[in-house]
Amino acid sequence: MLEIRNLHVRVEEREILKGVNLVLPAGEVHAIMGRNGSGKSTLSYVLAGKEDYEVTGGEILLNGENILEMEPNERAVAGLFLAFQYPVEVPGVATMTFLKAAINAQRKARGEGEISTPDFMRAVKEAGAQLNIDSEMLKRPLNVGFSGGEKKRAEILQMALLKPTLCVLDETDSGLDIDALQIVSKGVNALRSPERSMLVITHYQRLLNHIVPDVVHVFSDGRVVESGGKDLALQLEAKGYADYEKDVA
Ligand code: ADP
Ligand code: MG
Ligand code: MG
Repeated sequence: MLEIRNLHVRVEEREILKGVNLVLPAGEVHAIMGRNGSGKSTLSYVLAGKEDYEVTGGEILLNGENILEMEPNERAVAGLFLAFQYPVEVPGVATMTFLKAAINAQRKARGEGEISTPDFMRAVKEAGAQLNIDSEMLKRPLNVGFSGGEKKRAEILQMALLKPTLCVLDETDSGLDIDALQIVSKGVNALRSPERSMLVITHYQRLLNHIVPDVVHVFSDGRVVESGGKDLALQLEAKGYADYEKDVA
C-alpha cells in the first residue's frame, strides 16, 4: 500500500530526512513516534507534496505508483489524506460549503458527477453525529475561531467524507483535552478498514492508548531507527529517546 524507500529530503539546503524506509500494508495502522525536530512533520509535508521540500533521493509508492511524480491534488485523488498539526482557516466559507466542494472536486477528478444535496446531507449527518458535530458548527467558516478540539473533529469529518485509502495524522493529539481526544480517536477508529491504512504521528504515547497501532516506528534524526509492536510506545514513554540518539551520534 504505502512504501517509502530510502527517502532523502532537504529543506533550505539542510538535509532533514536521511534515508527513511517504511512499509505500511493495507488495513494497518502504524504510529511514528519521535522527539520534536526529528523530521516527522517534514515527512508528512513531503507526502502531501508541499513546496520547498527538495527530495534528493528515494521514492514513495502508493499502491505501486510513485506519488513524488504527482501534484498535491493528484495525490488526494489517488487516495491520500493528511490531517495537519495546524489546520488552515478558511474565512468566509461555511464548513458545510467547504466540505461539499471538497467532495465534488474529488468526484470531478474521478470523472463522476456532483453529489446530490440529499446524499451529501445524509453523509454529513451520519459522520457528524459520530464526531459530536452539530449543524451550528457546520454553518461557521471552517476552522475560524474553532477550538483545538473542533478543528480536529472537523478534520476527521473531512476524512470520513472523502474516504481516503491512506490517512496521515500529524500530531492530531496536540492541544486536545481528554474528551476531545476520545471523540477524535473514536472517529478515527470508526474509519479503520481492511482497505484503508493510517499513519499516526505523535510524540506522546497517550494517543496510542486510544488508537492502538499495529506497528510503532521510532523516528530519530530523519530516519526510522526501530520498529516494533504497540508495546514499543510504552517503552519509549518510560525510557525516552536518548538511547537512539547515542546510536546516531
Ligand atoms: P518534528 O515534526 O519531528 O517536530 P519537523 O519535521 O517539524 O520535526 O522538523 C525537523 C527539522 O527540520 C527541524 O530542525 C526544523 O527546524 C527543520 N525544518 C522543518 N521545516 C523547515 C522549514 N520550512 N525551514 C527550515 N527548517 C525547517
Ligand atoms: Mg514539531
Ligand atoms: Mg511535527
